[in-house]
Amino acid sequence: MKRLYDEKEAWSPEKRKAWQDRRLSRMVRLGYQKSPALRRMLDANKINPARIKTREDLEALPVTSREKLVEMEMRKPPYAGLENSTIAVDRIFTSPGPVYEPHLSENDFLWARAFFAAGIGSRDIALNAFSYHLVAAGLTFHNGLRKVGATVVPSGTSSSQIQVQLIRDLKVTAYVGTPSFLMSIIDQSKEMGYDFKKDFRVKKACFAAEPLLPSLRQRFEKEYGIRTFQMYGATEVGDVAYECPAKSGWHICEETIVEIVDPATGKNVAPGELGEVVVTRLNDLFFLLRFGTGDLSRLVTKKCSCGRTSFRLAGIAGRVGDAVKVRGLFIAPSQMKLLSAKFEGLPLQAVVSRKGHEDVLTLRIEKINSQVNTDSWKNNFKKIFKELCSVRIDVLEVVEKGGIKTDQKVIVDSRTW
Ligand SMILES: [Zn+2]
Repeated sequence: MKRLYDEKEAWSPEKRKAWQDRRLSRMVRLGYQKSPALRRMLDANKINPARIKTREDLEALPVTSREKLVEMEMRKPPYAGLENSTIAVDRIFTSPGPVYEPHLSENDFLWARAFFAAGIGSRDIALNAFSYHLVAAGLTFHNGLRKVGATVVPSGTSSSQIQVQLIRDLKVTAYVGTPSFLMSIIDQSKEMGYDFKKDFRVKKACFAAEPLLPSLRQRFEKEYGIRTFQMYGATEVGDVAYECPAKSGWHICEETIVEIVDPATGKNVAPGELGEVVVTRLNDLFFLLRFGTGDLSRLVTKKCSCGRTSFRLAGIAGRVGDAVKVRGLFIAPSQMKLLSAKFEGLPLQAVVSRKGHEDVLTLRIEKINSQVNTDSWKNNFKKIFKELCSVRIDVLEVVEKGGIKTDQKVIVDSRTW
């Protein structure tokens, strides 16, 4: 059986980069001819389109956030002049803002890599519980499912009762939607007198648009025997990354260039450091370069056991506004939660202060047992913190049990500027 969707997924990082660089250079030159907005932007920054030859060259361009895109589209509806007006647009989607997005054709294979990696194929009957109304989700996931050969039940946002009925009558094997909706479908099935695991055939679930909490994932997998996969994308740029069976990060799609940048400067951070996910989708229709998602993540460059060679995103650590920068590195509340979970739910709080011109990171933790005060425990804790957050703890302060209230902020920035 084919292990990868296509040969690109096994390309060496050098080969992939060379191919993406060529596509990028072509996209920028074409965009300069076809899109008045891109031409204006490059001219304003005094950049000759021929200068953008590699992903590193993208740093010369500004990051465009969703808010900025809405503003640009309001000034010049519908696509802010970012489109190639000589190509026929197949569909126009919209998302809150409003943002309008042109989609090239139903031949694109958005999400196909993700569904393939989740093991979905021609024997599957997939329930697509994403909305087909106005927004891109329903139809683009639908097309991706068709590209891997699955039969699709376009159930959209029908009630959970109807979803249960479809799962039962049509012998659905895979679910595509949000994790919370799958849980309410399972609850509904119980109310209707069914045993979801025994009575139905749903064995795979692909989630997007919502974080998958580890506790919920465990319930799906252990209690209901459903293999779960996460997918990540944005309407403005399509699919961005997807999980493989190794489940150790999300593989970046071959057709997208993902940068992890410092939101304040737009410059790339070092591999492994936390920063904003900035996406450029390589295409000939919509010349949106460097779309800032506002999501925080880290890049994983270590090879994956599944055979795919693309770099991965280490999940989403939160939104840009939630993170605090310490000595040039971001830490996010979600990283604190992850750390706490690794130590039996240890209550903790990070306090960032300043001594002279230096940032000082103090980590307050509760003495949940006598171990916590030993040097070996503390050293191990510091080591794991450094692995997870890249930054070093300066002061580890052990407080008595109950000393950190759950309603306190998990990261406190006490610096004054
Ligand atoms: Zn993998």
